[in-house]
Amino acid sequence: MSERLPRIRDVFETIPTYKPGKPPAPKPGRSTFKLSSNENPYPPLPGVLDALSGAAERVNRYPDMGAVHLYERLSERFGVPVDHLAAGTGSVAVLYHLLQAMCDPGDEVVYAWRSFEAYPIAVQVTGARSVTVPLNAKAEHDFDAMLAAITDRTRVVIVCTPNNPTGPAVHGDPLAEFIAKVPSHVVIVIDEAYREFVRDPHVADGVDLYRDRDNVVCLRTFSKAYGLAGIRVGYAIAPQPIATAIRKAALPFGVSDFAQVAATVSLDAEDALFQRVEALVAERARVVDAMREQGWEVPDTQANFFWLPLGADTVDFAAACAKEGVMIRPFPGDGARITIGESEANDLVLEVARHWRATRG
Ligand SMILES: *Cc1c(COP(=O)(O)O)cnc(C)c1O
Repeated sequence: MSERLPRIRDVFETIPTYKPGKPPAPKPGRSTFKLSSNENPYPPLPGVLDALSGAAERVNRYPDMGAVHLYERLSERFGVPVDHLAAGTGSVAVLYHLLQAMCDPGDEVVYAWRSFEAYPIAVQVTGARSVTVPLNAKAEHDFDAMLAAITDRTRVVIVCTPNNPTGPAVHGDPLAEFIAKVPSHVVIVIDEAYREFVRDPHVADGVDLYRDRDNVVCLRTFSKAYGLAGIRVGYAIAPQPIATAIRKAALPFGVSDFAQVAATVSLDAEDALFQRVEALVAERARVVDAMREQGWEVPDTQANFFWLPLGADTVDFAAACAKEGVMIRPFPGDGARITIGESEANDLVLEVARHWRATRG
């Protein structure tokens, strides 16, 4: 008689595995670059390093589960009540907690596709179903189609702006109109992981849209513009009942003392950090302009990456970049997402792209 094995929920058969951006293989005698995870190329500010070494002396203790200082600083920064904030180990974790709080098995979560690869995983682990709505030809959200996809089972709609991996950000008027048409019991999550890189003045600000509404949640992170991807801290700005539910679902003591102090110091050092963001935004314009001059079709980007719709050539193009020591993020058969990094790395990408066009049309 065969022994019974532990039973893993059926849904895990269909949950995709998150594919992290690949690090480059070391190349003797030359620099290699990782443009595959939308990381900030700048090392931590000195003040952040000091705060981290202070925190290191306290590692025998659990962190402050209430994240009191961090919540106070975020509350001042955004002019929102402390009980409208919920932190987690990255804003992806906050999304997991929110979906756990909102979704029962069989419920539906609507979002555009292609968008962030963490969404299908985060939705399906709850037992809810992903309902994806194709982006339009300009790689932007199609709000009419998203409205049409909402059913009685829909509990959450996610809007990724700027959209990872394609780049465009949603304008304020269409988003406000969309929110007005979404049934009031459906939560609208505005994922603004790249908000600090936005320069188009028409782009919506999720925090403005959350105010005065009971069903709008804004997700932000310290991983991208603030350069703290390795430390894992992000947060929701949400109506109080939703923020409270997210906090209940969160792993106890998940946000480490390191993360709390690094995030708090970073909020105090925004001037220095945002100078770096400004430099990356300038670099983005330089690279995207150069790509378009070469003849590439690059959708608008308001983030620290751009999208190349390479179709069947995607994997080969990524391999050509890897050969030069630059890792990008291929989505086979569709396109590649390329992070704006160090100028030297960006130049290598431009060089590969130029050579590609010269030799392959
Ligand atoms: C990077 C990213 C996040 C945040 O990631 P964390 O490191 O978990 O905070 C959230 N949403 C999108 C679309 C992202 O690209």
